[in-house]
Amino acid sequence: MSLLLTPSRRLLIRGSGLLAAASALPVWAAIAPSRRSNSLMDVRVWPSPGSTRITIEADQPLVGTQFIMDNPPRLVVDIDGLDLTPKLRELFERPGALGRDDPYVGGVRLGQSRPQRVRMVFDLRQPCRPEVFSLAPTAPHRHRLIFDLYPERLPAALTEANPPSPSQTVRPDLDTARTESQERAKPSSSMERLFVIAIDPGHGGEDPGAIGPTGLREKDVVLSLAKQLAERLNARPGLRAVLTRDGDYFVPLHERVAKARQIRADLFVSIHADAYFNTHARGASVFALSDSGATSTAARWMAKRENASDLVGGINVASTDAQVLRALIDMSTTAQIRSSLKLGHELLGTIGQVGRLHKQRVEQAGFAVLKAPDIPSVLIETAFISNPEEEARLRHPRYQERLTAALQAGISRYIGLHAPAPRRRLV
Ligand SMILES: [Zn+2]
Repeated sequence: MSLLLTPSRRLLIRGSGLLAAASALPVWAAIAPSRRSNSLMDVRVWPSPGSTRITIEADQPLVGTQFIMDNPPRLVVDIDGLDLTPKLRELFERPGALGRDDPYVGGVRLGQSRPQRVRMVFDLRQPCRPEVFSLAPTAPHRHRLIFDLYPERLPAALTEANPPSPSQTVRPDLDTARTESQERAKPSSSMERLFVIAIDPGHGGEDPGAIGPTGLREKDVVLSLAKQLAERLNARPGLRAVLTRDGDYFVPLHERVAKARQIRADLFVSIHADAYFNTHARGASVFALSDSGATSTAARWMAKRENASDLVGGINVASTDAQVLRALIDMSTTAQIRSSLKLGHELLGTIGQVGRLHKQRVEQAGFAVLKAPDIPSVLIETAFISNPEEEARLRHPRYQERLTAALQAGISRYIGLHAPAPRRRLV
């Protein structure tokens, strides 16, 4: 992700806007059918723990109807303007087109229900609700029809975020050199819950993020970095890392933040790789939330008072004066930003030992993923993937190792210096 509006960012914005608009529309067949015959270009299936996304990409807008059938559950999609050619069949039948491990989609059958109409029957592994919407062409994609299949019953892992056991005894034992003051800051109680770090690999699925000169995709490299970082953190006593996505699928930005709050994360670390027109731009950057970003955050929480109740933990929000509530949220967000700047500072220190820095100071911006008012949150642009030299480095396993070791060390230093105890709720 970069501050400049990359094609991927545009895709993201347009995508989420359409999603919101499309959920109000019951059918997607309202567009007048095209006279010209259409040709399918690709079919992609993106399984994730909470849903599976099916993307059908074609030369022209896709027109047709869809419905769900029971016993056994299946999604039936009729698309007009298509003939069942061997090429179309191949798109669906090539190895890996439909994931064997997909929790929701078991397989697909194709048929020609009449001339110029192809029927696709997706066999579902459990009853699902589809959300259907289309996306206009955005480089590198053409017209896309998207089916998000959500299970009728949410998997237990998502409804209950299996919070770390509070009774687990933890001895904070970080590898950073301890000073006397740190020793004093150590929690006195030996009964502490784990310190939870949400690691957020940017982009995923339909959204590749920035793409390097030789084709390295941001979504892939940040996932690899995030997994390695999580492994390193999980190897530390007292720490537990949780990924906001652990595969190649897209997670909406607000869901990433919601996930972090659901698992009661103490820190949120979003991992990206930067891109810029000028291929000479290089170095890592770290961002915290800006004050203007904080203002819009507070407004959003105020607008959704039931969420605010969760935020301030236990306060009867309905009977709390709006000004008091606003002040509580502002206080929390101010503290969040202060902590995030400290975390960012430690990270710049350790990242700077393994690679170049783009900016020497923590920058501030209104990134949506940084907006949990109660979780110190940073976004790291690990390098410029648009710079050929940095792209090569990002791809290299040895550099990934050194970078994730640096990230782990920076996080550990922050915890050792500034965050002696796991986060407490505001009230
Ligand atoms: Zn990014």
